[in-house]
Amino acid sequence: MLKTIEFCPVCKSKNFNPFLVCKDYTVTNESFTIVSCQSCGFKFTSPRPTNDTIGAYYKSETYISHSNTSKGLVAKLYKAIRTYTLKKKLALVNANVPRGTILDYGCGTGMFLKTCQDNQWKAFGTEPDNDARNLASQQGLNVFSDKDRLQTYITNEQFDAITLWHVLEHVTDLDETLTFFKTRLKTNGVLIIAIPNHKSYDALHYGSSWAAYDVPRHIYHFEPATIQKALANYGFVLKQMKPMKFDSFYVSLLSEKYRTGKINYWRAFITGLKSNLKVKDAGDYSSVIYIFKQK
Ligand SMILES: [Zn+2]
Repeated sequence: MLKTIEFCPVCKSKNFNPFLVCKDYTVTNESFTIVSCQSCGFKFTSPRPTNDTIGAYYKSETYISHSNTSKGLVAKLYKAIRTYTLKKKLALVNANVPRGTILDYGCGTGMFLKTCQDNQWKAFGTEPDNDARNLASQQGLNVFSDKDRLQTYITNEQFDAITLWHVLEHVTDLDETLTFFKTRLKTNGVLIIAIPNHKSYDALHYGSSWAAYDVPRHIYHFEPATIQKALANYGFVLKQMKPMKFDSFYVSLLSEKYRTGKINYWRAFITGLKSNLKVKDAGDYSSVIYIFKQK
């Protein structure tokens, strides 16, 4: 079951052009179309699976962001870098807001949440995947299946920080989710969003084979201009952009595999390196961390 998105989630326009046709390389091999809004340029996967059918597209052993297994070199590398980036992520949050209450939206197995909790943050998470959520709960973390469940528990709580590490591109109900952030973030709180950037060098290099299109799990495909427009509708202003320098390498490795059927480490490394070297500012990287505050 697929659902066509009728209005641009950013500007409400009804007119779109086809942008790319991409394959689901990790689970089904089905093809999905990404469209581009004629008035604001926002890109999104449409038609896309419905909320009831999207779960099936996450059923893969290789979908490693939800599991703690480390099979294969790519997964091992991913894990080593993740350990390093966990510390960097915590430092970034701490640099932008005094320690208080944090919500990690789409927390996966809870690795970042645990890092926060171990550093005296009062930590909450949401995670729709049952297996990932159970792993997080087993570590003594407060994790809920979705924001509605969370809200029955926290009632009036507001957050000093809300983080989404490669999550916003997956959410099926973008409007509801951003409204939730607007109401639940403290006036001086910080909203930190990490997402792939389809305007990066590696995205343009790999085209429809770019691993970070990851259809149909990625519904929304942002770049600096469209994320800022999307967030402005909910009263958020961009304070800062930060690069995620490892992502170009990881995404290039997967993209090489998708394009040629096998991993070419050298070529992926060169593309990843080029992607990082060709940037003019933080908004040009393969993945970007956006730091938003309320207007
Ligand atoms: Zn639009």
